[in-house]
Amino acid sequence: MADATVDRDPNCLFCKIVAGEIPSDLVREDELVVVFRDINPRAPTHVLAVPRQHIPSAYELTDADGPLLAALFASMRAVVDEAGLGRAYRIVTNVGAAAGQSVDHLHFHLLGGRQMSWPPG
Ligand code: 5GP
Ligand code: ZN
Repeated sequence: MADATVDRDPNCLFCKIVAGEIPSDLVREDELVVVFRDINPRAPTHVLAVPRQHIPSAYELTDADGPLLAALFASMRAVVDEAGLGRAYRIVTNVGAAAGQSVDHLHFHLLGGRQMSWPPG
């Protein structure tokens, strides 16, 4: 497993949030993962779960990131339970600008608390 304390991009917004250099509404954090509220929420609960390590997107994930992915999903489930979302929520990760990725640091959107439609736009 990669060392989660290294591999930072000095120009990356979410690396700065992880480091506490840019404030965020922090929801939870552990050794591998930070979860904070999206600044432009699209649902009553809308948080972003990010690895501390700078990984540009889901496309760059490798087999070695299995424990990191497990930690990300465990953190999101904890938020689901704390927010009382039950089994009604959505997890999204956008890859590439054309798919809606605006910050090139892997992040999972966790959205809940309202009716969701499908397909996404
Ligand atoms: P993407 O568009 O890359 O899938 O998601 C990036 C998300 O980051 C967007 O939903 C956007 O609202 C959120 N975001 C952008 N800048 C900031 C910021 O400075 N703080 C927080 N908390 N969220 C941000
Ligand atoms: Zn980053």
